[in-house]
Amino acid sequence: MPDADAKGEASDEAPQVGKDGMDRRRFLKMAGIGAGAVAILAIGSKFLADRIVPASADPRLRGSTSNSWVMMIDLSKCDGCGACTRACDAAHYVPSGQSWIQVYTVQDATGGTYHLPRPCFHCRNAPCVKVCPVGATYVDPDGTVLVDQTRCIGCRYCMAACPYNARFFNWTTPSYPPAALAHTYSPEEPWPTTKGVVMKCVFCAHHAREGTLPECVTGCPMGAIYFGNENEDAVTNGMGETLPFRKTLQTQGGFRWKEELGTDPRVYYLPARR
Ligand code: SF4
Ligand code: SF4
Repeated sequence: MPDADAKGEASDEAPQVGKDGMDRRRFLKMAGIGAGAVAILAIGSKFLADRIVPASADPRLRGSTSNSWVMMIDLSKCDGCGACTRACDAAHYVPSGQSWIQVYTVQDATGGTYHLPRPCFHCRNAPCVKVCPVGATYVDPDGTVLVDQTRCIGCRYCMAACPYNARFFNWTTPSYPPAALAHTYSPEEPWPTTKGVVMKCVFCAHHAREGTLPECVTGCPMGAIYFGNENEDAVTNGMGETLPFRKTLQTQGGFRWKEELGTDPRVYYLPARR
């Protein structure tokens, strides 16, 4: 089990993984994707204010779906290259100094080390959701924990509540590249983090909705990260390898980080050595 004090040491040597040109395999063809008042405070950007999601498109208003997204990370495959982090950073305009998926280097009982990528765990019993006083942090119909930047007041209660250090407060004013402005703001879509707002990994909700894999999954050159629908009992990595979700966890010693806290994470690990 990883130590909470584990130190991130992702190297810079891995190939840069860009969003464009990536061979995005549609991993949910067989699944079929289901149909998928508070004053606005602390909006630090006129761009965001102009692009508040219309109510009809608000993902929290979508009906229930047959999707229940899960991630499985095979620690025996992760070499700590950090390509997942860079792919995520580029796709989500992640501010400097933040790592929505951070790769820790962990020392095990034998003195050896292994690498552990830490995204948001999209906990089914998420402390961050419970403490948000304005409903800015919420669970979408697919089980993904999202943040509505138009509602977040920057109080940071959620950061204090998260036991995995998976949330980040943005102190800086972001730039808005044309690609970011090409769509209407939605908590599901990549959008530069507004100053004074907390953000984190969003399980690439926009890709999942379209049946494609998250950026970190396709960006991992080792095929260490798998993603899928637990209701389909299948997870797929960026190399197109699909594994039976439950059987793999059962036979390969699957575990979750800080399971004892009862947060019920949607991210599962396979041990580094087995
Ligand atoms: S890992 Fe942290 S931020 Fe993510 S859902 Fe769990 S408590 Fe919330
Ligand atoms: S900082 Fe966190 S708890 Fe506070 S409003 Fe924003 S999302 Fe909610």
